[in-house]
Amino acid sequence: MTDFHFGGQPLDNNLVASISHALHTAGIPNLLWGNYLLTVYGVPTIVDDAAFIVPDTLIETAYTVLADKGFIPCAPSFNCARPHTRRCPPPTSHLHIDENLAVSLYRKSDTLWTIPDLEDFDLSGDADPDVILACDRRLPQPVPGRGRGRFSSALDAVWIPSAVRYCEALILLLCRDYGSPYEDYWVVLLTYMLEFLDGTELLDGDRLGEEYRPFYRALGQADPKMYTHLDALRQDLSKGGILSVRPG
Ligand SMILES: [Zn+2]
Repeated sequence: MTDFHFGGQPLDNNLVASISHALHTAGIPNLLWGNYLLTVYGVPTIVDDAAFIVPDTLIETAYTVLADKGFIPCAPSFNCARPHTRRCPPPTSHLHIDENLAVSLYRKSDTLWTIPDLEDFDLSGDADPDVILACDRRLPQPVPGRGRGRFSSALDAVWIPSAVRYCEALILLLCRDYGSPYEDYWVVLLTYMLEFLDGTELLDGDRLGEEYRPFYRALGQADPKMYTHLDALRQDLSKGGILSVRPG
């Protein structure tokens, strides 16, 4: 994997692992993000990129590393250059696998801002509440029609947010982007997580932070009170300085 060079390989677990490993080798800790991450949790969805969260200060370095590995710079004719097709916030930086598929880089402060710095994770054990390996045996096995599931144990370079932290992040992103065109995207992702993972070993709603649980439970029951809970949560988060509302 150390000799990895991109030469048109398809977007699959091998390519994702090679990208993650190349970043790690360059001293850039990273977590899988985007719709590809959903498929690892076992959620069937369309994947249009391999997205990674990296430390804010290493975004440009990560871009350079991936450009040196052969990924393709964006071009005006590529699909991502049409902003009206975008349902989720754009990445800070990205390259391409082909004109339709991107390798997207997101800043940690735009995505998972409440978890510790990526540089500080102890990735030697399996008890971290914030991150797990994409080959973790608690993740579902690959099943046709049910997402990609966990990576093979041979691809042990890829780390993902734990399902609990991911759901908390989705709620925080929904709070941040409430009233924006991205609001629905976060609701849909959270609904998928509830539908496919809630009640499994990976996602017990009681392990979410106490402040997130009323909205999470109400959403799971399609209870109209979820909007009241969401408003209350947004106010609490703003007061606590945890939520900086996206500029309008
Ligand atoms: Zn592009």
